[in-house]
Amino acid sequence: MSKRDYYEVLEVNRNASEAEIKKAYRKLAIQYHPDKNPGDKAAEEKFKELSEAYAVLSDAQQRATYDQFGHAGLGGGGFSSGGFGGGSPFEDIFGDIFGDIFGGGQTRRGGRGRRGDDLRYNLSISFEEAAFGLETKIQIPRHQPCETCNGSGAAEGTEPRTCGTCQGAGQVRYQQGFFSLTRPCPECSGEGKIVDKPCKSCHGSGRVRKKKSISLKIPAGVETGTRLKMSGEGESGEKGGPPGDLYVVISVENHPIFEREGRDVICEVPVSFSQAALGCELQVPTLDGKVKLKVPAGTQSGKVLKLGGKGIPSLQGYGRGDQLVVIRVETPTKLTSKQKELLEEFAREGGEDVNPMGKGFFDKVKELFD
Ligand SMILES: [Zn+2]
Ligand SMILES: [Zn+2]
Repeated sequence: MSKRDYYEVLEVNRNASEAEIKKAYRKLAIQYHPDKNPGDKAAEEKFKELSEAYAVLSDAQQRATYDQFGHAGLGGGGFSSGGFGGGSPFEDIFGDIFGDIFGGGQTRRGGRGRRGDDLRYNLSISFEEAAFGLETKIQIPRHQPCETCNGSGAAEGTEPRTCGTCQGAGQVRYQQGFFSLTRPCPECSGEGKIVDKPCKSCHGSGRVRKKKSISLKIPAGVETGTRLKMSGEGESGEKGGPPGDLYVVISVENHPIFEREGRDVICEVPVSFSQAALGCELQVPTLDGKVKLKVPAGTQSGKVLKLGGKGIPSLQGYGRGDQLVVIRVETPTKLTSKQKELLEEFAREGGEDVNPMGKGFFDKVKELFD
């Protein structure tokens, strides 16, 4: 499915201001929020589309990339955010919007900052790297605590003050009929603290977006779809909240000669018709380099020979699979007249025994059809 233009999704002009984009998003997000449209798949899709569009257009850098290169420009780093495990990356704005409408998110409690979002990084590695593991570094653009204000969100030389309305609890009690209920404090939006003068570097959010280099150790034996969780390496939390997790999702590139089935490596090796008939010794490529393999005389095409322990190491760290060599006998296609002569002589010499398997087959045909 081709993606819709993000501006179109948010129903704004291409030169819309940040405030206009935010306003448009709020309006549409409230309209299509899953809590307001339970069970409505179309609304859910629309809501996801909105969230994605807003995530890009609300970030000046990503918006510039999108303006220049379109959707293709954003796919580049194999990076996507949210939609994985914990909260969506947009909860921060929902905090403001939906806090009042839906009674506040579960993630907001008693003056503690919100947990950071989980991140997903798609990592493509070679067949060999998947087999033996590797150490590498990846660059993750993510929110980190602002260094100017140490994550507090308050301008240099100032401190956030404890909210007077909720005494820092982030929640206020109120009476409804017989019930005493709590809801997020409207004064401090459930933060428990109020920033009077926001920090200039992070505009009061306590976080800045930066590229972080992370060292990865990929264990031997991973396969496409293997997910590695790096606890605490996701987005930093807001105002002292715990960080989210980073999920590295592996995709293994195809190999020109090897295929993989579980822990076994499968490799097809062509041999000539005379090699198969007479038997031979082959140099077969394996993950550990070339290895000698004896092909017995009279080997049929499709025969599978096993090289024990030359497969993929197990992810659990003990043992390896096997390499399965599939012999493919090639029928010669270009014969010199001398070769033709020899083969004709070969056939005459063998008589009916030239093709013993074929003989059995034709006997069966005779039984069945005559
Ligand atoms: Zn700051
Ligand atoms: Zn408060």
